[in-house]
Amino acid sequence: MSGKVTLVGAGPGDPGLLTVKGRAALAAADVVVYDRLVSPAVLDLIPGTARQIDVGKEASRHPVPQHRINQILLEEAQAGHSVVRLKGGDPFVFGRGGEELETLARAGVAFEEVPGVTSAIAAAAYGGIPVTHRDFSSSLHIVTGHAREGEPLSIDFDALVRARGTLVFLMGVTAMPIIVQGLLEAGMDPDTPAAMVENGTLPSQRRCDATLSTLPRQAAAMDIHSPALIVVGGVCALGKELCWFERLPLHGKRILVTRPRARAGTLSDKLRSLGADVVEYPCIETIPILPCPAMEAALRDLSAYEWLAFTSPTGVETFWFCLRELGRDARHLCGVKLAAIGPGTAKALADRGITADLVPGTYDAAHLGGALADAARGKVLLLRAAEGSAALTDALARRGIAYDDIAVYQTLYLFPYTRALRKELEAGKIDAVTFTSASTVRGFLSTVGADADFSRTVGLCIGEQTAGEARKHGIPVRVAEKATIDSLVELVSHSFLGEQRKESKEKP
Ligand code: SAH
Repeated sequence: MSGKVTLVGAGPGDPGLLTVKGRAALAAADVVVYDRLVSPAVLDLIPGTARQIDVGKEASRHPVPQHRINQILLEEAQAGHSVVRLKGGDPFVFGRGGEELETLARAGVAFEEVPGVTSAIAAAAYGGIPVTHRDFSSSLHIVTGHAREGEPLSIDFDALVRARGTLVFLMGVTAMPIIVQGLLEAGMDPDTPAAMVENGTLPSQRRCDATLSTLPRQAAAMDIHSPALIVVGGVCALGKELCWFERLPLHGKRILVTRPRARAGTLSDKLRSLGADVVEYPCIETIPILPCPAMEAALRDLSAYEWLAFTSPTGVETFWFCLRELGRDARHLCGVKLAAIGPGTAKALADRGITADLVPGTYDAAHLGGALADAARGKVLLLRAAEGSAALTDALARRGIAYDDIAVYQTLYLFPYTRALRKELEAGKIDAVTFTSASTVRGFLSTVGADADFSRTVGLCIGEQTAGEARKHGIPVRVAEKATIDSLVELVSHSFLGEQRKESKEKP
């Protein structure tokens, strides 16, 4: 049976601008054929099970020719696959989406089109430029600045100037001086506001403000590169006042997030919504130790314990898995008191209908140990990581509290030594690294090398124990007020508050 091709607009870069329907199509894809302009953050949404075909790669500066792309789509669909053809922005706005669908229609292959948010409107919007405004323009013209091969640029400048609307040029970076000259010769006022938005909607976005006559000089001074839009018209004057995106507190900051993949999402999303350029580096993974005879035995004999303590959501998850395996449910916990190291762990319990009896005032191993030692009369069961902090058991031992410390998950260090990351770090291109546990510090060190120069970054740590591990290796640190993700996010934004935005483009 023949498959189907869904042509999906990926939006201009910010993964939040991929449509709900586009995301659903991606999630169901067997094969994804994508272009150069699709941002890495959108590519991250492709399921691991889907085969990815990059047709935008400039191997010897020649991307895969259009007829070959058409052929790939046809072949993959005819082989019975669910194919998503992913294109930057909207597929029908200078995206050759129409041509691809024509080929499919002629071959009788089923297809659908999911429109995308076009850069022509969104990149301007993220630059603070509304493409229409009652005071300035009543029409919008989207024009290509790219000529067909071997032909000169064919733009009717007289008509454009007469229309008095907002002009947006795509693919116009190279031809920009010719476009400006054409508009001036057709009689446009040289003082007409004009702007360029480079890497619109991406953390690296930059806006160049000018007038029509000064645009070539200003853009050259800022070294504006493709992909960029040229916008010409009165609305450009609003950019300075309305450029909300570039004013986000973490705009232009590159932040490495080192959590395990399953847990990185919330932290990364929160940092991204503050404008950060988030690089997810899940250098550790937590693996449940299953089967876990020690935990099973403790579970069967749970009444021997007064307290059951968890130090992470992963511990709770592993415990619950084991409980179900033994054919038990939450009622089995009747009679035992529950302690959680912090709100995240308490929430993992709450999600299962259980309220923690104890959460220490400060969310770390030492304080959990102290609080348990105060509260416990009987024995304590600790279900936690194989390399859990000794601060917890020390606190109990000091006060003569009996405990069993059972390792229910272990940490894997995923990435081998990565030279490229170390180079970026040492060149000052990573403004901060977030650490949410001592094991993330160890994972990070195993990827960049413990002897790297950390002086040009800062380790933003969730708590004292994590910070202690980082300090041991000479990483400058700051510590969140409370050991929660929200507090860590606050620490990140405070760390960069009031700092001058980097104006100059950093070249790799
Ligand atoms: N179909 C796409 C446009 C493809 S043509 C869309 O609807 O957005 C490619 C041109 O789009 C680039 O040369 C550039 O002018 C513009 N473009 C694409 N992404 C952009 C971005 N993030 N910021 C600024 N311009 C962008």
